Amino acid sequence: MVRTAVRPDSPTFWKEVAATPGGAALATCIQCNTCTSSCPVEALDADFNVRQFIARIRLGLREDVLSDEAIWSCARCYACVAHCPKNVRPGDVLEAVRHIALREGRPGPGARHTRAFADSVRRNGRIHEARVTFASLGVRGLLRQGLLPVRMMLRGKAPALRRHPIKSVAEVQTLIRAVEESP
Ligand code: SF4
Ligand code: SF4
Repeated sequence: MVRTAVRPDSPTFWKEVAATPGGAALATCIQCNTCTSSCPVEALDADFNVRQFIARIRLGLREDVLSDEAIWSCARCYACVAHCPKNVRPGDVLEAVRHIALREGRPGPGARHTRAFADSVRRNGRIHEARVTFASLGVRGLLRQGLLPVRMMLRGKAPALRRHPIKSVAEVQTLIRAVEESP
């Protein structure tokens, strides 16, 4: 993908990310590209580049970064964290960016999927795949899938339409509340 030129709109964006859990070591990045070289998502999608995300954050491209749907493509595998020579924890920096995007109520399938995933665990203690898929994609997104859902159904791979909460759902809810209320 050819990126069109964007202007910095928030010179202090890097400070905002650095102050968010996961972003603290952002400023020490030396742009060596080790993170990108070890990233499995980059191998599948050339538009996803974790080193460039760090550079864009430091350049102050706030809107450009927060509105980039690719921030949700990270697989949270932490290969980049294991290999970074400066302990920047680039995967966690992306987590901090996603955190800001969620806090601002950003739209888009990635943010919707994360909210639906969390709501499903809060409500059931586990994932209700059908509901999470519907909430993430919406009617239009599902229609864009074409015959895939039908083919999945025919092969017995479609997610169940009904899911009961697990027995210990109250314990899961207590854990989630504790995390949400922690500073
Ligand atoms: S591996 Fe670490 S230091 Fe190198 S570009 Fe990635 S985040 Fe920066
Ligand atoms: S945590 Fe995300 S950015 Fe880092 S290597 Fe894994 S997929 Fe790539």
